[in-house]
Amino acid sequence: MTTPPPAYADVVARIGRAAQAARRDPASVTLVAVSKTQPWEAIEPVLSAGQRVFGENRVQEAMARWEGRTADLTLHLIGPLQSNKAKEAVAFFDVIETLDREKLARALADELQKQGRAPRLYVQVNTGEEPQKAGVLPADADAFIAACRTTYGLEPEGLMCIPPAEEPPGPHFALLGKIAARNGLAKLSMGMSGDFETAIRFGATSVRVGSALFGARS
Ligand SMILES: *Cc1c(COP(=O)(O)O)cnc(C)c1O
Repeated sequence: MTTPPPAYADVVARIGRAAQAARRDPASVTLVAVSKTQPWEAIEPVLSAGQRVFGENRVQEAMARWEGRTADLTLHLIGPLQSNKAKEAVAFFDVIETLDREKLARALADELQKQGRAPRLYVQVNTGEEPQKAGVLPADADAFIAACRTTYGLEPEGLMCIPPAEEPPGPHFALLGKIAARNGLAKLSMGMSGDFETAIRFGATSVRVGSALFGARS
């Protein structure tokens, strides 16, 4: 391992402090380093410093970047998934965070069976009910999670959300936590560069951080 780049060391330290402030074990928060669109020169120092969990939002782009380098990595798909890409996504990712509709649940269930692989799954919730954003609506979340379990034999391990950019994120994180708790889901993927400390205060078990680690995306 090499010396961590300053921005990486800073994010790791901030996660630790936010966890401690919330009386949580820093090890209970996983940093998902969001490498989408970043040049390899930005990613390599973070990888060399020991980071092993990365997030990508497009299947083809992720495969181009990480194919052949995935041995001891954990790769999260955090962008919308079309059901016709379920096959590649199941084959390539360790965690799929954007399960949000029955058509996709069916496609994933089929591929899990065919491939004998079991990527961990998160249900994305559109907590801000934004029309342009993916995710199941909060009012539909319980029924969708139940359908995943009973109709498709899928066992999501948690929930994911992306709060509206222009609103304080706290209430959205709280809502996601409430939906997870009443559905017996232990994991919460929430918080990005601008709000990961708040997310940790509200119980995030993983935070998805891109620009604070790697610099602004072009
Ligand atoms: C790009 C992206 C992130 C990272 O955003 P930053 O603000 O750069 O940290 C997190 N989550 C999702 C779903 C993303 O698409």
